[in-house]
Amino acid sequence: MKTLQNLIDGQWADSRGEIFLDLVNPATEEVIARHPAGSPEDVETAVAAAIAAQPAWAATPVAERAQRITAWADAVAAHADELVELECREMGKPLGIGRTFLDGAVAGLRAAAEEALSYDFERTVVRPDGARTRILRHPLGATAVITPWNFPVTAVLAAIGPLLASGNTVVVKPSERGPLSVVRLLELADMAPGVVNLVLGDARAGTPLAEHEQIRLVHFTGSVATGKRVGAAAGLRLHRAVLELGGKDPVVVDAGVDPVATARAVAFGAFINTGQICTSMERVYVHCDVAEPFVEALVAAAEGFTVGNGLDDGVMLGPLVDRRQRDLVARHVEDAVHKGAKVRTGGGVPEGKGFFYPPTVLTDVDDSMLVMTEETFGPIAPVVVVDSFEEGLERAARSKYGLAATVYTADPDHIDASARIPAGVTWINQWQGGGPERLYEPAGDSGMGATGARAAFDAATRPASMHIPAATA
Ligand code: NAD
Repeated sequence: MKTLQNLIDGQWADSRGEIFLDLVNPATEEVIARHPAGSPEDVETAVAAAIAAQPAWAATPVAERAQRITAWADAVAAHADELVELECREMGKPLGIGRTFLDGAVAGLRAAAEEALSYDFERTVVRPDGARTRILRHPLGATAVITPWNFPVTAVLAAIGPLLASGNTVVVKPSERGPLSVVRLLELADMAPGVVNLVLGDARAGTPLAEHEQIRLVHFTGSVATGKRVGAAAGLRLHRAVLELGGKDPVVVDAGVDPVATARAVAFGAFINTGQICTSMERVYVHCDVAEPFVEALVAAAEGFTVGNGLDDGVMLGPLVDRRQRDLVARHVEDAVHKGAKVRTGGGVPEGKGFFYPPTVLTDVDDSMLVMTEETFGPIAPVVVVDSFEEGLERAARSKYGLAATVYTADPDHIDASARIPAGVTWINQWQGGGPERLYEPAGDSGMGATGARAAFDAATRPASMHIPAATA
């Protein structure tokens, strides 16, 4: 049985902690690796390595840093099938879906390297009297990237590019529920020792890392509850925190859309990755004019997905990541049914091995139910029938979360009105998408800190100004 190791100062080494955890394939319940639960000593040595390596990395010309990052992207692309298979084995994601997202993350890493070449790490403003102001963007120092399990590789790649390209060094702390693919990901990085470090473990590694006095920025992707702790720890130390947290994303389906095509799109948004995407559609508001054919088509689409081991051909939906996550999903559905919801398809834990849960459509739901108010992170589509588009928008806006929203409408005025939903991203007539110019900050409890190519470089650097009077040569 493979025991996973940390990467500290360019060396793969055993954890100094004494507690190890089993990593279980959620489709088969087989133990596939052992990994450390995390220790403060590991964190301490990893942070020390990151601090020691940072001045030389920051002094490396931007073009060379960008070239190293691009080389890593090339290596990840060359090993994409292997990485996707590891993700499938550790957290259940089917290969095809994994590949789509991994390709996107590689493109994102390449884009970060390119962005570095045009980013103004230094610019000079000359005033009419000849005085100059030099505006410098300094790297912050040693930083941390703490990630969740739902996209183990993608989450690291999405965060790390701008940090490295700006001259920061990084300690990566992946989720204890998906460390295997991240170990392989870091094996593929050819960087000077200490530039990228890996510390494995759960909160036993995450807490001392987020609370480390010498970590200048924590880029955290994960749940709202943990994100608030990470943000509080950063606040106490005056460190930066970029927090990409959970959601309860709404989708509003207007009158006048094709109910069948829209239901198929919503089925994809609600069920893909077994509903374990921060921007999964978790609340559906459908106009009464199209509700009946829409629900019928949504049920048919849910029943059309093949659920199984993501390594098998044709499987679209894998298991949930582990028993704990399936229990949570089952609890949300039971709570809804207890309070009067109707199960139109799915519902209930199937017999047999693996942490599977069927794609489930609920109707007759209301805001007294967990499934309408708390992030479920499972393949559940609760549908509310509304009397008007306005009512759909108003109910969509009623949430403590504000990550993303989707609106299907044929009415241009309703497209404009959709901006009223508090969300970082609003997708119109599609789910996901948008170019590199995309810029957003989640609303409400869904996070803190802007996301987007330039914004990520701004977050990864500290501006400083130097004023030089005209008389100075
Ligand atoms: P989680 O908060 O349980 O864990 C996230 C990471 O934090 C893990 O690496 C974990 O080990 C670590 N951690 C745990 N306790 C910690 C502590 N006290 N201090 C520091 N680190 C700690 O989240 P999860 O269950 O792994 O991930 C699912 C969540 O992530 C969902 O809420 C989902 O919506 C969210 N998510 C958000 C985005 C986004 O971009 N907004 C993307 C993916 C996932």
